[in-house]
Amino acid sequence: MEMEQLVALCKRRGFLFPSSEIYGGLQGFWDYGPLGVELKRNVREAWWRDMVTAHDELSAPPGAPSTYEMTGLDCTIIMHPQVWKCSGHYDLFHDYMVDCRESKRRYRHDQVQGRWVEAKGERIFVATEACGDEALEATEHKALKFFNLRKKKADQLAWQGPLVSLTAVDDFGAVLGPDAKRLGTLTEPREFNLMFKTIVGALGGEEDAAFLRPETAQGIFVNFKNVVDSTRVKIPFGIAQIGKSFRNEITPRNFTFRSREFEQMEIEFFCHPHASLEWYEYWRNRRYRWYVDLGLAGERLRLRDHEPEELPHYSLATADIEYAFPFLADGDFGELEGVAHRGDFDLRSHMEGKLMRRGDELVVDTDEDGTPKHRGSGKDLSYYDDQSKERFTPHVIEPSAGADRATLAFLCEAYREDEVPDEKGKLTRRVFLKLHPRLAPIKAAVFPLVKKDGMPEVAREIYKSLKPEMTAFYDEKGAVGRRYRRQDEAGTPFCITVDGQTMQDGTVTVRDRDTLDQWRIKKEDCAAEIIARLKG
Ligand code: ATP
Repeated sequence: MEMEQLVALCKRRGFLFPSSEIYGGLQGFWDYGPLGVELKRNVREAWWRDMVTAHDELSAPPGAPSTYEMTGLDCTIIMHPQVWKCSGHYDLFHDYMVDCRESKRRYRHDQVQGRWVEAKGERIFVATEACGDEALEATEHKALKFFNLRKKKADQLAWQGPLVSLTAVDDFGAVLGPDAKRLGTLTEPREFNLMFKTIVGALGGEEDAAFLRPETAQGIFVNFKNVVDSTRVKIPFGIAQIGKSFRNEITPRNFTFRSREFEQMEIEFFCHPHASLEWYEYWRNRRYRWYVDLGLAGERLRLRDHEPEELPHYSLATADIEYAFPFLADGDFGELEGVAHRGDFDLRSHMEGKLMRRGDELVVDTDEDGTPKHRGSGKDLSYYDDQSKERFTPHVIEPSAGADRATLAFLCEAYREDEVPDEKGKLTRRVFLKLHPRLAPIKAAVFPLVKKDGMPEVAREIYKSLKPEMTAFYDEKGAVGRRYRRQDEAGTPFCITVDGQTMQDGTVTVRDRDTLDQWRIKKEDCAAEIIARLKG
């Protein structure tokens, strides 16, 4: 599937629109349309249900070291600025970026790549923001232009090695920037804070500056004590949260994959330090299976353990769940979710202040005069186990997923084309979304074959019987074949049609989106039939 086909389907059928489109859109912001909002809600609800409400606290699930509890939170987007100072985001939440003096554009250092090429006795690095084959094309096009060669003379370009990241290039004087005509127009990489700043209060000055949260996790850590004190949860337990996060990404792109406003689904799982590696293993596998169960099977999904040198200083182990999005080069994967063993870093940071690594230890980061750079809350966030009579700072396992990236992956995986016979038996191209029934925005559509002979009345009754149970859609407009196609594109698993035979024997046709099988059932049984089939 080409990404353009999916983007076009999303626009055509109302899954996703550029934000503020009538004003030309705003880069990195997306709106979910009538079908998209249902799809994303279903992703969120499947996550919440599978992780929180349906979790059985009385038995240990397969692979878990013991039973555990799950609970939830819904924290504010704007929090006390000290939260971000102690968490490290204020100082460290940066990406390196480069500016182009010629085009005035700004790029994320690690997202520009290019190839070394030699021609006419000169060796240059041709940079681009494109990925995969597009990047190869773009770099060739730019190199031909730069060396003033016609396409026919492309063999005069001596390419040296494959596409590599700009981060591997030291000699910026030899770099031809992604939108530049001259060499050496890119600045050295600089830090860039990704947090959106805002002012709290009408008269606020700089001292009232606050930030839109760049992740939902910190709201959970700062409420750890509240949850322990106000509920009867006992370690091991997890706190889940779904909510908006904001990052002023330098190069938002690839549809919703990298947005500036997006939604996260995060769990902070608190456990005893002795058991934390076992819990990490459990969550890493549990979260991977969640995507498989909802349809992301196959070689496009993978679980990748981080190499030790990739790990941040506080993490003992991290794995990413990744998907081979169609906009990436062959063999490349994009992150859907990170599952990290974070040790006691977060709770200690909010007790003691911003931490840094010294040797093998985490110590409070101090200024030259020895005072903490960012003071912690001073509150005791340790945990007292009244059975073992032991006090300890829990370790944290963090499965951190993106609702928008998951939704996009489910859409990419679901996009299918095939050929099916139309009413006259002629094979025609069909686009359909093979979404898991739990995720499908509409579960069943009801059609009268024609708009007469009492059929609409019967179809409306069926629609009404479905509506309290599921999202259902009634459609009586146009040829029935076209109505099926519209539902196929929306990913609706079942269509129910009332026809001439219904009026004689009270049965209707049910059609399966994927197999195109059709069978007849009694019209009174529609709701029970669809519910049973949705459950699989
Ligand atoms: P990346 O390296 O792609 O920027 P990240 O490692 O910074 O991602 P995390 O901080 O681990 O991401 O955030 C957890 C999850 O939140 C990611 O796995 C992803 O699903 C989602 N996420 C992060 N940034 C964005 C974004 N800009 N747009 C959409 N989703 C995002």
